[in-house]
Amino acid sequence: MSEFDYDLFVIGAGSGGVRASRIAASHGAKVAVAEEYRIGGTCVIRGCVPKKMLVYGSHFAEELQDAAHYGWTIDSMRFDWATLRDTVLRDVDRLETAYTSTLDNNRVEHFHERATIAGAHAVRLASGREVTARYILVATGAWPVMPDFEGNQYCITSNEVFHLPELPERVVIQGAGYIAMEFAGIFNALGSKVTVVNRSDVILRGYDEALRDRLLQITMARGIEYKFHCPITKVEQRDGGGFTVTPGKKDPIPADVVLIATGRRPNTDGLGLENAGIDLGPGGEIPVDEFSKTACDSIYAVGDVTDRVQLTPVAIREGHAVADALFGGEKRTIAYDCIPSAVFSQPPIASVGLTEGEARNRYGNVKVYSSDFRPMKNVFAERHERGLYKLVVDANTDRILGIHMIGPDSPEILQAAAIAVRAGLTKADFDATVALHPSMAEELVLMR
Ligand code: NDP
Repeated sequence: MSEFDYDLFVIGAGSGGVRASRIAASHGAKVAVAEEYRIGGTCVIRGCVPKKMLVYGSHFAEELQDAAHYGWTIDSMRFDWATLRDTVLRDVDRLETAYTSTLDNNRVEHFHERATIAGAHAVRLASGREVTARYILVATGAWPVMPDFEGNQYCITSNEVFHLPELPERVVIQGAGYIAMEFAGIFNALGSKVTVVNRSDVILRGYDEALRDRLLQITMARGIEYKFHCPITKVEQRDGGGFTVTPGKKDPIPADVVLIATGRRPNTDGLGLENAGIDLGPGGEIPVDEFSKTACDSIYAVGDVTDRVQLTPVAIREGHAVADALFGGEKRTIAYDCIPSAVFSQPPIASVGLTEGEARNRYGNVKVYSSDFRPMKNVFAERHERGLYKLVVDANTDRILGIHMIGPDSPEILQAAAIAVRAGLTKADFDATVALHPSMAEELVLMR
């Protein structure tokens, strides 16, 4: 008989928490997970997955526009927001059911209520019940930051954007990171007038500069307006509906929806970490070691709540590694140096490894190869947008240090190319690979 109620108690049934629960249970551990909202977490319920569906839905605008050049006549083209929204929300329900079944099939007990830490081995549930566990895993994710300005109660975040009653005519988006650029693309494609306001003049900070410039050019040509160096200072309700947004000293902008996308803060408020002697980091994150262990030996944390890399596949790997280490006899660390990422803007950006600037700082002697091309699909459709691929190469060893791409389907192409970067392949290996013609991806092996 164990001295604890559970071998593992997981707080938060998102990507990291569900993976850790399932794997720990498969190793024979007695596992429970508590979730105060919906099983699946941000990615499945109000993040990556429903966002990608909106990207797919909105992308038809481009396809249908281009279709005429390929001989199609489409009469009475109309878009209905409610149909897309409800289809997306139905699929989210389906996925939540699938995630719940995964827990059930692995005999993971789930509590649909908030849980907090009551001690090194103790969890308190909102119902008042207290349970004990040999190990506790915190996987509570992060929450959108709402900056402090007059009228911010009228603004929405990515949590609410999936539920809009109708397609807004005018959308103002604050921020120029992942969420801002993805939703700017979605609403612009669906026909809304989109204005992006940001506190700096940098979009997608951290991505390769040439790609960011290209995205800016293309999206401006598509009608997205940018206002830089002017974070929102006030939002007022207008008589007769809508809002007036004041971006610093710039002219007010009318809006029907004001979406704030200024980063996400770890979900640690009121979690009771102090009861286990765990101090938070400066951004509210839980500090952990390379095995995701907190300052308390029996408590681990994975995913966005640790603010290492706020990406679903990373949280999943971290959760899996914790479960394997605690119950599968296999202790391992996660490699954070070569994580591919994508922005599902329109067109999308995808990237892995070092940017040109980072590589020059770290290696000094760097060669950059690029291909600035008009995809065949665009040529045919008289669309003037160009793709841009870049290879960043260590000039001393010929090793590929980074790949950066903007253009149709770039995330789909980059995932495979990321294997080559991870494996330490050289530019000569790319050159030796025969092109797959005609494709956009062939540009990767044709840069000289
Ligand atoms: P990001 O960190 O990507 O971008 C934040 C933006 O808000 C930046 O433009 C930043 O400006 C600005 N900003 C930050 N703080 C303030 C502030 N206090 N006032 C005004 N502006 C501010 O955050 P997102 O919210 O877009 O996304 C959150 C996280 O979610 C991302 O980091 C990412 O990890 C994840 N995500 C990933 C996706 C993907 O993989 N495709 C998709 C969506 C989200 P500046 O740069 O000038 O500082």
